[in-house]
Amino acid sequence: MKIRESAITSCRGGQKSPLVHGENTAGLNRAFETVRIQQESRLPSPQRGREAGGEGVHHDLRNDPIGHWTIKLTRILAAIILLFPSIQSAHAAGKLSRFEESQPHMGTVARIVVYAPNLNAAAAATRSAFQRIRELDGILSDYQAESELNRLSRQSGGPPIKIGPDLFRVLSAAQNLAVKSNGAFDVTVGPVIRLWRRARRQRALPESDRLAAALDVTGFRWLTLDPKQQTAQLAKPGMLLDVGGIAKGFAADEALKTLKQAGIEQALVALGGDIAVSNPPPRGKGWSIEIASLNLAGAPKPPPLLLHNAAVSTSGDAEQFVEIGGIRYSHIIDPRTGKALTGRRSVTVVAPHGIESDALATAVSVMQPVEGLKLIESTQAASALIVAQASSGIQTWKSKRWKE
Ligand code: ADP
Ligand code: MG
Repeated sequence: MKIRESAITSCRGGQKSPLVHGENTAGLNRAFETVRIQQESRLPSPQRGREAGGEGVHHDLRNDPIGHWTIKLTRILAAIILLFPSIQSAHAAGKLSRFEESQPHMGTVARIVVYAPNLNAAAAATRSAFQRIRELDGILSDYQAESELNRLSRQSGGPPIKIGPDLFRVLSAAQNLAVKSNGAFDVTVGPVIRLWRRARRQRALPESDRLAAALDVTGFRWLTLDPKQQTAQLAKPGMLLDVGGIAKGFAADEALKTLKQAGIEQALVALGGDIAVSNPPPRGKGWSIEIASLNLAGAPKPPPLLLHNAAVSTSGDAEQFVEIGGIRYSHIIDPRTGKALTGRRSVTVVAPHGIESDALATAVSVMQPVEGLKLIESTQAASALIVAQASSGIQTWKSKRWKE
């Protein structure tokens, strides 16, 4: 599994920049940013290591901030030269230019698109936003042994532990959704996830006694949060938290917030299949976002979404799965049974924030479509599209608020 930069196509709006095109009425659509969202691979650590061929270069550069930024700025500069030949005049006119950068983060590609008055403003804001993503990964990662999340898991069976505001925020949102989804979404599913990751590597189903033991220490009711004390307590020894179904959406929100604090009001942050956007690009009504359809013959291609000040996430079985005995097992698990999902399904959720869209997309993947839509409709300003393979063929469900 490789980081698939191509999973996100380049923004069409770049080449057809509003800046270059000036007033755009007939071609308004073209002025919008088009981003394609699709399942992204979460790279298990060994693969991550292998990716280091590519990442190694970055790593060296990271130790050398000047070199790193020279390369980055060169890349940004190249984009500007390509996309904005008239940047000088644009700058003089006080217009905004489009800047874009991608970096590997959180086991996927993090991509930031901003409209800024100049290169310096764009580079400074983007750097802070990527830094915020890196910081959150250090807190929420289940791959980094010393992440705050893993340190908390190691205290399972012990007393309440004081945790930082970011982890508290993510766990609170997760627990609310766990209740609302009757446990379809559950961040205490870590022990089960671990078994299925091994199953993916070894191409063999988890043994039933191991699965039973993992399920025994899974259950959101064993996680207690105290908002007053800002503590978390895992009641059973051996519990393991996994926030892989919610962390990327939250990181996209936080990166967008960081950009706003740096004065960037029109931006898009994509972390794999989780995207958050602020105000529309200049002269556009929103960011045009293409949803990757289910990778099956006959699957409908949903029209692009036009979004601003919102988030969208897609969950599905597009990339991370293992096929054993002719059955395809997803990386999404039903925490109540310990079973990996097997049907082909793609769930897209739009919500005000990524922390909601990301977690809801995972939850609805686990739930029956009708139940999932009820959950979406009971969530303020959320909407969803579900495409699934049924015995009768490919079926589509849309929540009432779903806009096309
Ligand atoms: P992706 O990470 O591919 O964007 P999701 O947002 O749907 O996809 O998250 C899937 C990840 O969430 C899994 O890799 C696992 O870490 C975690 N997970 C799997 N099943 C559940 C579940 N039922 N509830 C909460 N988290 C889950
Ligand atoms: Mg999710």
